[in-house]
Amino acid sequence: MTASAPDKSTILLIDDSIDMHRLLSVRLRGDHLEIIGADNGLDGIGMARTRSPDLILLDVDMPEMDGFEVLQTLRDDAATHEIPVIFLAGMTTTEDKVRAFEMGAMDFVSKPPDFAELKARVRSALRISFLMKMLAQKARLDGLTGLGNRAYIDERLNEEFAQSTRHNRSLSLIMSDLDNFKSVNDTYGHPHGDAVLIKFASLLAEGCREGDIACRYGGEEFAVILPETERDDAAEVAERVRASLEAVEWLVHPERRITASFGVASLSCVEAPSIERLVAAADSALYAAKRKGRNRVILAKPEGRRFSLSA
Ligand code: GH3
Ligand code: MG
Ligand code: MG
Repeated sequence: MTASAPDKSTILLIDDSIDMHRLLSVRLRGDHLEIIGADNGLDGIGMARTRSPDLILLDVDMPEMDGFEVLQTLRDDAATHEIPVIFLAGMTTTEDKVRAFEMGAMDFVSKPPDFAELKARVRSALRISFLMKMLAQKARLDGLTGLGNRAYIDERLNEEFAQSTRHNRSLSLIMSDLDNFKSVNDTYGHPHGDAVLIKFASLLAEGCREGDIACRYGGEEFAVILPETERDDAAEVAERVRASLEAVEWLVHPERRITASFGVASLSCVEAPSIERLVAAADSALYAAKRKGRNRVILAKPEGRRFSLSA
């Protein structure tokens, strides 16, 4: 989940005029722009889905499906709704322009275009879209640890839950909370507490497998989403992280180890699977781990209509 400036931007031109394709590919081509094209709306929508271009230049006036219909379809599809669109239009009324902007078009360029102006508008649209992506990513990142934050967990849990229900796959969740962390802050100071959070975040990320999603749930509480993973395999991940934290020797306090407690649940643990039940099951297991003395991994266990807990 990192944002970096793209080396090369892909621009999709959807226009029924062959001349426009020819002209644009010559005039816009450059070191950092790749131009791909479709000569009708339907093919254009297909390419937008499969190629995920950075920007779409969309002709308003096309037979069969016009630019407005194409834009509406792109906006209604989660795979394409964030791709910026610049409308290309010959004769247009103010109403058309207003309608295009209301539907989410980023800009409007008249046809035939002045290529210097079009190039400048393309650059500006790409810059804005890159900044918007970066902001959206930042809003989902925890500033201290660099892991995904609560908003990111909620988003990913929704996506992964939908995937696992659709494909009938398992999904696990680890909830973790540092033990007696208030006393770590009180004894060694808040900055050291922060350093502990950063270290724990990196142990959590290292302990995960590819595809697992480690996040900071809030405060000194962390979560890992493990797609396509059964509870017992998730428990192995939790145990690995638990042991690696306990093994850390802290320069500030060589005499004191820091530990964390873990609760692990999977969709198969809960009757009538839902995100809320999954989170509640992992949470209950975590609090059982606290009650039983901390520094341990507890698994949620299915039992009839209610789950119970086992070590
Ligand atoms: P338990 O084992 O029951 O979890 O005890 P605890 O002391 O860890 O739990 P408690 O909820 O009492 O304290 C959590 C502490 O975490 C209090 C809060 O100041 C600290 N904390 C939360 N966020 C941060 C942070 O960003 N930085 C630091 N340094 N401390 C934080
Ligand atoms: Mg705690
Ligand atoms: Mg806590």
